[in-house]
Amino acid sequence: MSFSVTELIQQVVTKGTCTGCGLCVGMDETKKSFMADTPEGPRPVIDENHQIPEQLIQCCAGHRIDYPHLYQLHYGKYPESWLTGVISGVYTGFCIDEGIRRNSSSGGVITAVLCSLLESGQIDAAIVVTQGIPEPEKASVVIVNTVAEILSASQSVYVPVSTLDILNKLDPGKKYAITCLPEQSAALRYLQKQGHAKALSIKYILGPYTGTAIYPAAIETFKRINGIKKDDYVSSLKWRAGEWPGYLEIITKSGRVLRSPKVYYNFLIPFFVTNASLQSMDFANEFADLAVGDAWSPGFESQGQGFSVVVSRNEKMTALLEDLQQKGVLRLTPEPVEAASSMHGHMIDFKKRGSYIRNRMRKMLYLKAPDFGYKPARIGFGRIIVEIVISTIFVLGKTSLFRLILYLLPERIIGPLFNFMRLKWKNISKKTKRQGLESYEVKILEN
Ligand SMILES: Cc1cc2nc3c(=O)[nH]c(=O)nc-3n(C[C@H](O)[C@H](O)[C@H](O)COP(=O)(O)OP(=O)(O)OC[C@H]3O[C@@H](n4cnc5c(N)ncnc54)[C@H](O)[C@@H]3O)c2cc1C
Repeated sequence: MSFSVTELIQQVVTKGTCTGCGLCVGMDETKKSFMADTPEGPRPVIDENHQIPEQLIQCCAGHRIDYPHLYQLHYGKYPESWLTGVISGVYTGFCIDEGIRRNSSSGGVITAVLCSLLESGQIDAAIVVTQGIPEPEKASVVIVNTVAEILSASQSVYVPVSTLDILNKLDPGKKYAITCLPEQSAALRYLQKQGHAKALSIKYILGPYTGTAIYPAAIETFKRINGIKKDDYVSSLKWRAGEWPGYLEIITKSGRVLRSPKVYYNFLIPFFVTNASLQSMDFANEFADLAVGDAWSPGFESQGQGFSVVVSRNEKMTALLEDLQQKGVLRLTPEPVEAASSMHGHMIDFKKRGSYIRNRMRKMLYLKAPDFGYKPARIGFGRIIVEIVISTIFVLGKTSLFRLILYLLPERIIGPLFNFMRLKWKNISKKTKRQGLESYEVKILEN
């Protein structure tokens, strides 16, 4: 099928697979296109005289990113494990500076590496996502050139934020590091391989492991079920406040403080999970130089404070991490390669098999779904049934009726209830979801 860039963007947006990454806007040389806020997160508004190159068609995450091809282009090989991607080094650890560690999502490793890159002159500026810009409830991508600004961007933002629309604001003569989500890293790599000058000014891509994000409407519902009036606006919002793993903290203009532990506010996921989270097959940020996730394990969780699983994807990044270890900035313990996936089996399965099944089901229903150029070599019947159950919950959860029911329930009931049901379901489906994961293989699809 061949179509123009304009048709592609229109199709991706209207057919519901746009991830809101902002790539199309960032590639528009006229700079007249922009991202607009919608209840589904940011969406592109493309100027009719846009100058977006055809390259977009090869790297739009709502349409197609050919991961196997990109593996060959960027790494010159396929990964040994398709669950976690190409790996140079795996560690668990944290940033030694207590302030950074406690203010971050997990161990503060991303923040510490960004600060060191800036202080050592390896970058002129960092491109980060900061909660609270332009207003407390919102988050935006910003170019920053001070350590203080990097520090204030610490923490994950779990609502969609366009990051790649920043591309056309970059100066090709400068050096940047960026933090971005998995498909955004892959899209950037593709542009770099095509010689895109502004993409090439990004010298380091750092990114979180990425499970699920939720639509911004979740915040309003969260306020409502905690008895906050609509006109009592948010004055501060943190997704991972306090002791790791942290809690969602919302402070309102009237001074009300809402705090919900991360495991409790997960109940918002079935009602507000983004389509981008459901369709992506990349959990471990396979094309970032540095990918960082929470080090979920009972040993670390019982200590609080914040621990990360840290994956370096090339020797240059590994050398940088080891240098930071020697300088006393990071404390990292080398781990076997399997550690990159062993703490996240559930979410890796959700992406590597779940997303493929969900995308396939969409296609069977004549709905648009993105294509990542490969599929799992084998999927058991039991795993498909599990996915049908999960997808039914997501479809029902997003209907007005179920959102209304949620809207009416107080958080002290829905939080623990959801957590109880989540753990029960995790137990029931664990065997099926883990089965065959360690021998996961893929079949590369014809372009
Ligand atoms: C949407 C989302 C889902 C996630 N899901 C999981 C998961 O399922 N399992 C898991 O182990 N980890 C997940 N993470 C990663 C985890 O929350 C931490 O980000 C990660 O452990 C890094 O921790 P840190 O302390 O090193 O980061 P910090 O030092 O706190 O730095 C975080 C950096 O990430 C950047 N950032 C924050 N949000 C975004 C965003 N939306 N887009 C681009 N850049 C951003 C900020 O600019 C900041 O520089 C997720 C992160 C996000 C954003």
